[in-house]
Amino acid sequence: MGKTVLIVEDEKAIVEILKFNLQREGYSVLEAMDGEDGLALARAEDPDLILLDVMLPRMNGFDICQTLRSSGCATPIIMLTAREEESDKVFGLESGADDYITKPFSMRELLARVKANIRRRSLDSAQSAPESQLLKVGDVTLDPTAMAVYKRGRSIDVTQKEFDLLARLFSAPGKVCTREELLEKVWNYAYFGDTRTVDVAVRRLREKIEDDPGNPKIILTRRGAGYYCGEG
Ligand code: CA
Repeated sequence: MGKTVLIVEDEKAIVEILKFNLQREGYSVLEAMDGEDGLALARAEDPDLILLDVMLPRMNGFDICQTLRSSGCATPIIMLTAREEESDKVFGLESGADDYITKPFSMRELLARVKANIRRRSLDSAQSAPESQLLKVGDVTLDPTAMAVYKRGRSIDVTQKEFDLLARLFSAPGKVCTREELLEKVWNYAYFGDTRTVDVAVRRLREKIEDDPGNPKIILTRRGAGYYCGEG
């Protein structure tokens, strides 16, 4: 079955070129020209991926992203940021987006990222099969079957990528994973991507699962190498 991509973008020319290229790759395309319509369509149609512009009439992309995430929506979201500004990228990832791409973008790169994000998501759904077991580090427990994270028994809201990142670190306690390795395995980037994406995700996760995010005990940094988790 074809995958559906929702484009939320107020520049008609960009919508048209995205639509043309996505349809040519076999995707069904939904489009919204303003933020509120975009949010409503995302909820009504449950697309496989959302391409989300930041600057939109009526509701901006960051707010849409946060609203969707806080209501438990795990659909992959790629933010289309207009400026080359680091703060936009970071803010986008902090609002729960899985990825960002800066305009003007190369269509080839955009299509590669759409594909990678959708594939990642379907692999995860396929893998949530029976015989998984709980992974535990300190007072944080991961349930791969339910894709749930608990701290001292209390459920913690995490995004898909945050879950994948934790699962990768928790499955080999003490083993250091480089940023590049995490980018490749969790975000599926063999060629594209910015290792800063990993740092932002780790920072967000620490805020959710660490007692003191400034002095982490669960996700640890190996200076100059990468990240690892404690032995439990
Ligand atoms: Ca715009």
